[in-house]
Amino acid sequence: MFDSVEQRITSYKRYLFWGLSGAVAPDIDHICLIFINPKQADHHLYFPHYPVFWFSLLLFSLFWLVISKKNEQNSLLSFLFCLEGTIHMILDSVTRHIYWMAPLSYRSFSIEDLIHLKMPWFIEQYPHWELSLEASIFVWAAYLLITDRNAGKISTKLTARTD
Ligand SMILES: [Zn+2]
Repeated sequence: MFDSVEQRITSYKRYLFWGLSGAVAPDIDHICLIFINPKQADHHLYFPHYPVFWFSLLLFSLFWLVISKKNEQNSLLSFLFCLEGTIHMILDSVTRHIYWMAPLSYRSFSIEDLIHLKMPWFIEQYPHWELSLEASIFVWAAYLLITDRNAGKISTKLTARTD
């Protein structure tokens, strides 16, 4: 997103803060699990892990982003936060499970369950496939950092602006 929204960013620290916060925000329901209802077995049953919640927020924040001025930052930070929360739903669906139709239905879905059902041989051949997937994301990020593609641009902007 960096290149397309650069003119909206006045504080890179806030940009990173809200992006990273959105990525972990759905897991705030761990607090409910620990302090409010420790007998609840699955924290994905709380609304911070409902896709409808995050897609609704994403839609509203996108609307705000579209109608706001081209150099306005708060709408971008809102959209970034909601986008990261939505991506969290998708990534939790890979190896964990998400109740995609909640609160209408509490039937869970995960890609791993789907693979177990449709291609059990794949799990037997590649029992740690999800770790390979995560490792490939890590390697990609390391590659971008080493080759200084996006990191260089952002660090240049960070030092150019004071905040
Ligand atoms: Zn989660």
